[in-house]
Amino acid sequence: MARCDCGADSGPLGVCADYYHAILAEEQGDPGMYRWHAVVVCAYVLQHPSAGRGKFLDGQFRLLQLYAHQGLDALLRLQAHQVARNNHRARSGYDMRPLTPYAPLPAGGPPAHFRAAFTGLPVSDGSFVADGHPPYGHRIHAVAEATLESWAELLDPGDHHEGQAPHPG
Ligand SMILES: [Zn+2]
Repeated sequence: MARCDCGADSGPLGVCADYYHAILAEEQGDPGMYRWHAVVVCAYVLQHPSAGRGKFLDGQFRLLQLYAHQGLDALLRLQAHQVARNNHRARSGYDMRPLTPYAPLPAGGPPAHFRAAFTGLPVSDGSFVADGHPPYGHRIHAVAEATLESWAELLDPGDHHEGQAPHPG
């Protein structure tokens, strides 16, 4: 069985990239599913940093913390605020102030393992939301929490958990 870069076993669709692209395709036609888009993107690139653009990882880590702390509506409000700001020619650039209270991306990543992975997401009849949007949201939330949890462990190297293999390289 193939193993993904993030340490997860592959699932019926393949590795996490296969799940990620299937989610991005399905959410295009489903606004209820698309509400979770930013959480999906942040969790995916933080679990697979080689797939993302490194200079955005810190902001994505903070954004995921904001989501975990304040909820999805707060994340969506912040994004709407950023879009409005970028559309206003007189004031360009991102407003990073809402993200400054959150921890910066720890050095030494990525973590070797995450408690919940994209390959663990159930797909039924080719859909991630076959059982509705709330259960899908709960599953994405679990992946987001697992992502933050593993990264946060890098912040406190003195707090070792048993059975954790060092990251190769
Ligand atoms: Zn993966």
